[in-house]
Formats: sequence, C-alpha cells, structure tokens
Amino acid sequence: MKILVVNSGSSSLKYQLIDMETEEVLAKGVCERIGAAGSVLKGSARGEKFEIEHPMPDHIVAIRLLLDSLTDPRKGVIRSIDEIGAVGHRVVHSGGIYDAPVLVTDEVLEKMKDTYDLAPLHNPASIKGAIACREAMPNTPMTLVFDTAFHSTMPAHAYMYAIPYEDAKAYKVRKYGFHGTSHKYVSQKAAEFLGKSPESLKIVTCHLGNGASVTAVDGGKCVDTSMGFTPLEGLVMGTRSGDMDLAALEFLCAKKGMTHAEGVRYVNKECGVLGVSGISSDFRDLEAAANRGNERAKLAIDMFAYRVKKYIGAYAAAMGGVDCIVFTAGIGEHTAIVRKKAVEGLGFMGVELDEARNADPQGEIAVLNRDGSEVSILMIPTNEELVIAQETERLVK
Ligand code: ADP
Repeated sequence: MKILVVNSGSSSLKYQLIDMETEEVLAKGVCERIGAAGSVLKGSARGEKFEIEHPMPDHIVAIRLLLDSLTDPRKGVIRSIDEIGAVGHRVVHSGGIYDAPVLVTDEVLEKMKDTYDLAPLHNPASIKGAIACREAMPNTPMTLVFDTAFHSTMPAHAYMYAIPYEDAKAYKVRKYGFHGTSHKYVSQKAAEFLGKSPESLKIVTCHLGNGASVTAVDGGKCVDTSMGFTPLEGLVMGTRSGDMDLAALEFLCAKKGMTHAEGVRYVNKECGVLGVSGISSDFRDLEAAANRGNERAKLAIDMFAYRVKKYIGAYAAAMGGVDCIVFTAGIGEHTAIVRKKAVEGLGFMGVELDEARNADPQGEIAVLNRDGSEVSILMIPTNEELVIAQETERLVK
C-alpha cells in the first residue's frame, strides 16, 4: 500500500508518499506560502528535485497541485491517485479527546473543533488540510495521528498542574506533551536494537530539534514528558524559554510594556538559545560562534545541555532507574557537544559516554556508550512520517 502523509500548517503543507512494502519515500515536498503571493511547491520525486510556482489561494489548491505532481507523466511516481491507499494527517493536539489515531469521519472533524482553543496555531490548520484533502480524494480513507497520543498514558500525578482541581478539569489545563510520534518511534527502535522487549526497559528519549522535549518511557509507555499544556514548557529550545517562573513573565511584561499576549509570544519566539546568544536559534551557528570564542553562544549551549541533563536525572528518578538514553532530531542526531554535556557527570548512575563514538557516530543507529556502561546511550534518527504512515496502514487495514 502507498500512503500519503500530510502535515498542514497555516500557510504550508508538507507531504511524503511512502511505499509501505519497502518503506521507501517515493516523493516528498512542501507547498509554501499558501494564501499569500509567491506560493511554490518544492518537491522531489525519485530523488530528483523540482519547483512549481503556482498561485495557491488555499489548502485545496495546494493539495490538488501536489497530487498532480505525484501523477505527472514525467516527474510523477504513480499513474493515478487511486494508487494512494490512505492519507495520514499529522495533528499536533488531540485535546484529550483521542488517545490513539482515528479514522477521519464527519463526526471526528466536527469534534476536532473543540480542540482549536487548546492549539490555536496548529489544529485549525491541520484540520483545514484534512478537509481539503478529503475534498480532493473523497474515496480515500484518512486518519488523524496526534503528537499528544503517546503521552496519554501519563499518570495524573505527572500530568496534573498544582492548580485548583476544578479548574484543571473544567478548562482541561494539564500537561499534554508533544513530539509523541517521535518519542514512540525511537523508544521502540531502541528496544528492537537492544534485542529486548519494550516492557522490560526504562528509556529516556531526548528529541532535540528546534522544539525539544524529553520523555520517560517505562515498559513501552510514556510516564512523563517535559513539554506541557503547550510546547513551551520544559527544555530550553531554539526560541522558547522552556521552564521559568511564571511571575517573571508578568514582571517582564510590566517592564517592557508588553501585553500578556505579547509576553507569551516573546517567551515562544524571542527567548531560548536565540535570546541568550543573540546570534541564532540554529545550533550550527551557535557551535561555530562558540568555537570562535563567543561567550554567549557557549552559555546558550551550556544552558540547553544542562536542562537536558536535569530532565534525564529527574526521569531516572521518576522511573526508579534508566536502561537507555536515546538522542534524536536535528541536535540530538548531529550536535555531539550537546550529547556530551547532557550526560557528563552521570557516571554515578551508570551512564558512561564513549567520547570517540559520540564525536563520530557510526551506523544508522549509533551506540555512544562505553563498552560496559550500565546504561546504553544511543543516537537514533527519528522518522515521524513513517510512524504516521504505519499507524495509518494499521488503522485502515
Ligand atoms: P525541527 O524539526 O524542530 O524544526 P530539527 O529536528 O530539524 O528541528 O533540528 C534543527 C536543529 O538541529 C537546528 O538547531 C540545527 O542547527 C541542528 N542541527 C545540527 N546539525 C545539523 C545537521 N547536520 N543537519 C540538520 N540539523 C542540524
């Protein structure tokens, strides 16, 4: 079966067409600037890149355009859209309504509207994409796969905030967690790689990208995660502050003359390693600057890694031990200095990094721990699209 994975944002739409028999990505790309001037589809099919500049006033035009590119006699990879067995849509927030992927029906799309105020930047766009896709391919089954779903197994003492219980329930204010698809994928891959059953392992997964989160996976189930009600909580990120005293935000709003909404934007967009370094949110730039002796870039990297280390320690405590630490996503896969600093000094709990292996990871999945380290340290490339496709295939079959 061939499955189309779609990730719709408010003005963009990313896609991958995956052949599930071989897990090969037949085509992928992104429609950019939907609803604005200069919209463009940047894609690749069978490894060849192409760009199509074409007005895309809305998501439906974007989807039609990408379907045309998939079936194009010259550039295309399929003869007809009937070859697409199903479409899986990535949705950030299930709003606590669903704890697993669901098949798209009118009722499901209607229910998803109740989640819009919980994820106003993401969910309306994802659902808009799903509706547009259904219009273009009315006979193809579709699913919604939620970033929050893997975290639905957290116990109440982990997901509750210490606010009045009635408010938590009435307004659904709690920790939801994000990047669930990635945490699930790399924790399962780690168990497979170690030749152990997921049920027998305590794993801390560190998804370190522009957005970053750490998850405690005990016996294959999420028991805690660092992102919260929104993706703002937890680690220091590219532009997000992560954990900080709520009262400091009110103080900053007063000092800088920001409204509350501006303050929330500030902690999401202007803080993190960008705000600390004053240079960039991108770790490639930060590493280069730190190597040139830039103190603020060094500080930003140290703060980022220190926060990861604190969460690893906290989650080892939460689970009563840890067997494996996994690093994934852009920084987790590529930035050796962050991995090194994040586990430095954890020898007391059996975590021993091999510096040479860490500096030059070998293989698709790389072992980074010293031989004899009680705790395995692995680098595992994440593949959220493949998980969405697998969940979709499972559901439609
Ligand atoms: P997101 O998907 O959240 O936008 P990514 O997982 O792509 O983020 O991670 C982006 C981060 O990974 C950036 O800070 C980037 O600098 C860092 N990174 C470091 N080295 C590389 C590399 N070789 N390729 C891609 N990203 C890298």
